[in-house]
Amino acid sequence: MVGAGFAGAVMAERMARVAGMRVLLVDRRNHIGGNAHDTVDDAGVRIHRYGPHIFHTNSSDVFYYLSTFTAWRPYQHRVLASVDGQLVPLPINLDTVNLLYGMNLDAAGMVGFLDGVAEAREPVRTSEDLVISRVGRDLYDKFFRNYTRKQWGIDASDLDSSVAARVPARANRDSRYFTDRYQAMPLHGYTRLFERMLDHPNIKIMLNTDWREIDGVIPYGEIVYTGAVDEFFGFRHGPLPYRSIDFRFETHDLERYQEAAVVNYPNDNDYTRITEFKYLTGQVHPKTTVVYEYPTANGDPYYPIPQPQNAARYRLYREDAERERGVHFVGRLATYRYYNMDQVVAQALATFRRLQRPGDDVEPSVAASMTGPGEDRAPADARSLIGIVMGTAGGDQA
Ligand code: FAD
Ligand code: UDP
Repeated sequence: MVGAGFAGAVMAERMARVAGMRVLLVDRRNHIGGNAHDTVDDAGVRIHRYGPHIFHTNSSDVFYYLSTFTAWRPYQHRVLASVDGQLVPLPINLDTVNLLYGMNLDAAGMVGFLDGVAEAREPVRTSEDLVISRVGRDLYDKFFRNYTRKQWGIDASDLDSSVAARVPARANRDSRYFTDRYQAMPLHGYTRLFERMLDHPNIKIMLNTDWREIDGVIPYGEIVYTGAVDEFFGFRHGPLPYRSIDFRFETHDLERYQEAAVVNYPNDNDYTRITEFKYLTGQVHPKTTVVYEYPTANGDPYYPIPQPQNAARYRLYREDAERERGVHFVGRLATYRYYNMDQVVAQALATFRRLQRPGDDVEPSVAASMTGPGEDRAPADARSLIGIVMGTAGGDQA
């Protein structure tokens, strides 16, 4: 199992608990959890090392599966954006428009307002098309144009519509960032959740290890690979572009630093947003830690960049991946998809189910129907289909 993020951890857990296999999980980082890893900083404040991770899903399968390993803290995420010298709700809603334009619209008035400013775009292909067709050019300029350029290093007119579609616009006063059915944070953090998922005698963990270092040294049956797919194939079709982020943390001798969990800065500064972790975790502490996100082209690959030419290049890698016997590609980087955590969990569960029943053609984005850990052992022939690590390796759980 290459990679101890959500994709690798779910696959390892299912293979060990359900299929009774022996799994060696390797990660080149010094911790489990992948980009969802959290830790406590020097001041004692719980932080997310790779930026804010808020759990939300509409999938009961995913939510109940993860609930096996964690209790939850109900949490509704709210974001403010700093625009024209004011902090206003994002997604754009009735209050956002009233505050920005000094109006006093009700919901019906807001619908009329949006109808008046929205510009028809046919087809809606890019993020610019999408936002302008929803809220018109002025709101696009205030919230999306510069933020997107900062975040992605390209113009919204060059970016697939699915990117900006993540952020809706509303005629009501709902100020939640997400409206999913399940919204909660793991009560004791993500790392604890991962520890519990991976706490099984069949799972061995090797950190600080690139899988290539042990390839040919430790025998294995098959591989589940959750790293970057272009790297796996030695960049043979050229590198897939990714966006990275430089995270800069600051601890302040204050209970509260800002008015919301996340404040976005679309138009000012080189950073896109500031997150204050205590809102997310509910931690009570006399100090507070925040993180500033500075997007960059260099560094760890965090975001696949949804553009047609990148999708075309990824298809070449995907064809190679499909031909690669005994290797299964799962996760955000391995399938080059701008997936949230719950989508990665759903994809891993579906992949596991497909491996157990090779005849099934399960859509990876559809959550598999679940059985609880420890139930259902896979038939013997299925066990040989899914990667089995023959040896054990040193290195203990984090
Ligand atoms: P990863 O977590 O990237 O794990 C892959 C692992 O593989 C890594 O640990 C890596 O070290 C390891 N690896 C790679 N190559 C090798 C190798 N050669 N040898 C050994 N190990 C290797 N999702 C949400 O649902 N909500 C959010 O609020 C949210 N916020 C986010 C904020 C940021 C800034 C980012 C970047 C992402 C955010 N996400 C969020 C997305 C979320 O992080 C991912 O969906 C999820 O963590 C992906 O899991 P994964 O297992 O596919 O990949
Ligand atoms: N976006 C924007 N302005 C904002 C917030 C988001 O232009 O204030 C656009 C931007 O292109 C961003 C995308 O919407 O990359 C998706 O935002 P989201 O908050 O989902 O990004 P993530 O949390 O994945 O970084």
